[in-house]
Amino acid sequence: MSDRREFLKTSALLGAASVVSTNSLSAKELAQQKGAKGVQSYRRLGRTELMVSDISFGTSRLRTGQEHLIDHALDRGVNYIDTAEGYTGGQSEKVIGRALKGKRDKAYLVSKTMTRASTSAKKLMNDLEHSLRSLQTDYVDIYMNHAVNDVGVVGNPEWQKFVDQARSQGKIRFTGISGHAGNLIDCLDYAIDEDLIDVMLTAYNFGQDPKFYEGLTSGIDWIATQPDLPRAIKKAKAKDIGVVAMKTLMGARLNDMRPYEDQGATFAQAAFSWVLSNSDVDALIITMTSEDQIDEYLGASGAVTVTAEARQLLDQYANLNGANYCKHACNLCSGACPYGVPISDVLRTRMYATDYQDVEFARDEYALLETNASACLSCSGEPCQDACPNGIQIDELCAPTHRMLGSTEQLA
Ligand code: SF4
Ligand code: SF4
Repeated sequence: MSDRREFLKTSALLGAASVVSTNSLSAKELAQQKGAKGVQSYRRLGRTELMVSDISFGTSRLRTGQEHLIDHALDRGVNYIDTAEGYTGGQSEKVIGRALKGKRDKAYLVSKTMTRASTSAKKLMNDLEHSLRSLQTDYVDIYMNHAVNDVGVVGNPEWQKFVDQARSQGKIRFTGISGHAGNLIDCLDYAIDEDLIDVMLTAYNFGQDPKFYEGLTSGIDWIATQPDLPRAIKKAKAKDIGVVAMKTLMGARLNDMRPYEDQGATFAQAAFSWVLSNSDVDALIITMTSEDQIDEYLGASGAVTVTAEARQLLDQYANLNGANYCKHACNLCSGACPYGVPISDVLRTRMYATDYQDVEFARDEYALLETNASACLSCSGEPCQDACPNGIQIDELCAPTHRMLGSTEQLA
């Protein structure tokens, strides 16, 4: 109840502030003012009993020299930091380790490792110990099987053996999975049914929620990319599994939205309020790349409803991006390329470059792909021309993506 009261209070403040926004402060500045108050709500993360900041720090783009971002977030009340051994080539964990030196108790730490169905418990322990060294700590609160997209990976008995060992040695407290690709629902269902996890980190945004489409105008003809996701999230909640959402901005074309943010809230805040208004979700993580951004994002902390203004912003975003947004998790184009180009992964890295405007991160992610889009340079484009039911012109996007991320040339 107190969370709700606080939210209503801050909403009222924002409403009052928006009266002056057109004359003096931009919506973003207003959002930052509100965000300067910091985290407004801590939510129970399922059976872990951890009380975590509803808007928390995703560090997939954290680089050397950005220790101050962690400090800023901690000062604003963020107490949950999510990383992985592979983020920014290992820099992310090291930055966190330095930033948390002497104040490890200020945050719950999550790390992850990529695995295969055959990965051994010994290898997993090596990965964990490597992360612990980078993070300069003896333990992580939650350790996750990272970016799973195969039930065989989730059910690998070696993972469970490793978890039991690591737990008994005090190196991890809880375990989980993270995922955002085409087989996400199968992976979540399996992990929940088999009771393998304490926490799940899943892609979830308004574009993946059938409820969003019920209120859409006829001009927008999307379909929910993963209509089963809210069901899986509810099922997790029923088993008291902690649910953390990521990819909450549905592509994060933030700059496109600035001209429409005239109601005292920003698109990002609107998108967060959608996620947090689902009581089956405990918290969300979001990549934070500047102090201003942290303040803006935390302006949505405490949200439990989607205001009419927020809904308008989400509809506007859908209007602007519906036709050219690759819904990566749908993966319906899988197999369309005779040369094995992983189309949705290639387009995801393109999104990092063009929407997140972080070419360095996009290049890092592109380099991790087992197969890249070099074949597109000499392909007619015919095989994948009509492969996307969502209207994405795959053949027109993949070759330029390779030119940008696979070499030093610029995006066409
Ligand atoms: S290109 Fe189309 S089919 Fe392929 S992942 Fe993106 S939206 Fe789905
Ligand atoms: S352009 Fe050709 S090589 Fe590239 S994804 Fe399409 S079919 Fe595959």
